Amino acid sequence: MTEDSHSCCSSTPKTQPKKLPCPSHGGNCNEVALSTLNQHIKQPWELGFHDRRYFFCDDAACDVVYFADDGWQAGQGDVRTPVGQKDATGAATLCYCFGVTRRDVLADPAIKKYVMDQTKNKACACSTQNPSGLCCLKNFPK
Ligand SMILES: [Zn+2]
Repeated sequence: MTEDSHSCCSSTPKTQPKKLPCPSHGGNCNEVALSTLNQHIKQPWELGFHDRRYFFCDDAACDVVYFADDGWQAGQGDVRTPVGQKDATGAATLCYCFGVTRRDVLADPAIKKYVMDQTKNKACACSTQNPSGLCCLKNFPK
């Protein structure tokens, strides 16, 4: 484990992720590592090998989940689990590392403290478990 594998949880990331506008809704989206995409996309072996960069769309109203800088796109039907960032219901997964749903957090706000402690202990896996590749705490209600 390197320091960088947990930079998702750092409040001051060393490098800002690159951004590209979503081809569907037009908003800026963060670059995501291929290792993250491989954890979420159905049949990743069908992707083949490309010299492309991948981005994650977290806009709740947009059906695009991942897209690449060469026009490739994947929607919600192309990923293995529902994307919490695109689900406004209580069943939405907010933290993929510990399987926390929105309903869980609303019923017991102390769960957020648990997740914060776990991430401080580097016992989380946001960089691959969360489809965004970013810290799950970003998804929690303020
Ligand atoms: Zn989009």
